[in-house]
Amino acid sequence: MHAKAPSPIARTEQPASHLFYGSRQRRPLVERAEGIYVWTQDGRRFIDGSSGPMVANIGHGNRNVIAAMQRQMEKATFAYRLHFENEPAEELARLLSQKMPGDLDRVFFVSGGSEAVESAIKLARQWAVATGQPKRWKVICRMPSYHGGTMGALAVTGDLALTETFAPQTLAMPAIPAPTAYRDRDNLSMEQRGIRYADMLEEKILAEGPESVAAFIMEPIGGAATAALVPPDSYFARIREICDQYGILLIHDEVMSGAARTGKYLGGDHWACRPDIITMSKGIGSGYAPLGAMIASRRVVEPVLDMGGFQHGYTYAGNPLACAAGLAVLDEMELLGCEENAAAMGDLLIAELQGLTERFPFIAGVRGKGLLIGADMVADPQDFTPLPKDKHANQRLLDLAYERGLIVYSRRIRGDGLGLDNFILAPPLIITKEQVGEMVGVLGDSLEALA
Ligand code: PLP
Repeated sequence: MHAKAPSPIARTEQPASHLFYGSRQRRPLVERAEGIYVWTQDGRRFIDGSSGPMVANIGHGNRNVIAAMQRQMEKATFAYRLHFENEPAEELARLLSQKMPGDLDRVFFVSGGSEAVESAIKLARQWAVATGQPKRWKVICRMPSYHGGTMGALAVTGDLALTETFAPQTLAMPAIPAPTAYRDRDNLSMEQRGIRYADMLEEKILAEGPESVAAFIMEPIGGAATAALVPPDSYFARIREICDQYGILLIHDEVMSGAARTGKYLGGDHWACRPDIITMSKGIGSGYAPLGAMIASRRVVEPVLDMGGFQHGYTYAGNPLACAAGLAVLDEMELLGCEENAAAMGDLLIAELQGLTERFPFIAGVRGKGLLIGADMVADPQDFTPLPKDKHANQRLLDLAYERGLIVYSRRIRGDGLGLDNFILAPPLIITKEQVGEMVGVLGDSLEALA
């Protein structure tokens, strides 16, 4: 690998700004976006190879969604949930609940993924109190994982790079290892490994005291922290069994894996999962409006309502404009065949990435489902030895691809003791075969520059 190239992002000249996000870096100003492409004011075009942070599932600039939002804006852009119901929220709740497994038909709208996770944690706790189990409050999580940036969501997030500073302020929850079975070097089959990882939940429950645990939260297909981690098939049924055995709620965080991203509406649909609570965001608003949802089973919600109501809520919950966008996004998802296209283009993209591993042996562990596809960047693909930290492979790949007009999602995770650099490709679900080829071409050029 060569020395760190100067970042094209940092070089971009922008006026000083009062805006503050994560760092001092300034990005170019966006001009417009359409389909899988985004243009900046300085005239550059980018392939949105990660749909932003896996958000723009139906693609940018969809005219039908924009028109539906305009129609709603003419009627009412805000109606507070304690004063009024609104039709888009009611209809979206009805349609979303039809897409959920089992009796998950109670929908609580929020404005983003962290809010959805906070809501799930609080619902699990209030359910425990409402059902006469006040000692249950812990939510077991996985390491590594990402569930959001607010304090509650951070407490169940397994990524030391994000949590360490705030450790004194967060009530960090017990964690078990995420099922990174793909890189285990033992004599077990994948199925045996799946059971072994799931059994770690039972061990943790017993260590914590089953009477103290309210829920277990997991991403059915891993996102930001594990770059599209797919557990072995055997994992899911065993996790459900353990949760049932100890009377613990199972929360599936589908904020990233949901909304057709993996080729089925929910990531858990690949295994016919039956969680008790599902959190969603990102793709359900597809970037047209800040929208999220927590969908819970009747069995969980009814005792809470009997207790006098869920002691939780947000001002923008069930916002009519956001829900109108969500309704139109759902329609477009069907019309555009997003699930089918994600499955087909995902197969193609994964095969292309596997091809790249021959050219670039530092890429290992290509994985994912549909159009949520990830890989690690390693020093030794046999045993997944991490690249030296000072190579900054994650940041360099991001920069090199950006310079060439491709957005990739690339991070280094601190949470599994390895500190692997990884990247995700997750373009809008409307991507064509030719565009997959175009994207892989630019990625190949970027990896060539990185090698
Ligand atoms: N949960 C998962 C699985 C996520 O991937 C994310 C964001 O990346 C969140 C929760 C938090 O969502 P938001 O950034 O919308 O608050």
